[in-house]
Amino acid sequence: SGKFFVGGNWKCNGTKESIKKLVEDLNSAKFEEGVDVVVAPPFVYISQVIDTLTDRIEVAAQNSWSGKGGAFTGEISADQLVDVGLKWVIQGHSERRHVIGETNATIGKKTSYALSKGLGVIACVGEKLEEREADRTTEVVFEQMQAFADEISDWSKVVIAYEPVWAIGTGKVASPQQAQEVHAAIRGWLSDKISPEVAAATRIIYGGSVNGTNSGELAKKEDIDGFLVGGASLKGPEFVTICNAVT
Ligand code: 13P
Repeated sequence: SGKFFVGGNWKCNGTKESIKKLVEDLNSAKFEEGVDVVVAPPFVYISQVIDTLTDRIEVAAQNSWSGKGGAFTGEISADQLVDVGLKWVIQGHSERRHVIGETNATIGKKTSYALSKGLGVIACVGEKLEEREADRTTEVVFEQMQAFADEISDWSKVVIAYEPVWAIGTGKVASPQQAQEVHAAIRGWLSDKISPEVAAATRIIYGGSVNGTNSGELAKKEDIDGFLVGGASLKGPEFVTICNAVT
């Protein structure tokens, strides 16, 4: 379903110097044709990245405000992201949900506003460990999906990222089987609640401790259409390996 998609979420990491080096590594890399590559730098480095990074790679923001600009200290509007040349924004990342406290409703509003400005949205869902252990994985993920769906009318610029919270930054990657199961469930949900066409066309990517070693096996799974990579996306050569795991 769609082209393989790999996003590098740099989170709150990097300096002018380290990002210069990372961009150089990415600029000299050879990417397979069948993969869309996107990186998400911290806001303050976005201009540096846009000015220096190859056009082969698109740039995302990690968050955006839920409406147009104005008196919202510390926020960045989707209009501003478009103005500086961004193509994508991540919404609903687990760190924004569980560390910063964003709700499904807030995330939905941010998503619809970003889409209305022409940005693509990487829409993140995923359960916590205690939810998985209580057999509530699909219940939680479907609730998060419904909150996105309430605000999305055109799915053509939406990529869904399934990121189990227990796998993020822990080194505990979901097994290919565990990830495949949830990806298939999400695709089934899309087919039932939206349409079979949207289910078939929408990319569902996996995130959580993806690295250059485990990406190959994960990429072989039928419903895994790419990755959202945290830690390993800060290492140029390893990130390139993950992008080229396209099957
Ligand atoms: P890690 O790859 O560091 O586990 O992070 C995953 C993630 O949260 C990507 O958005």
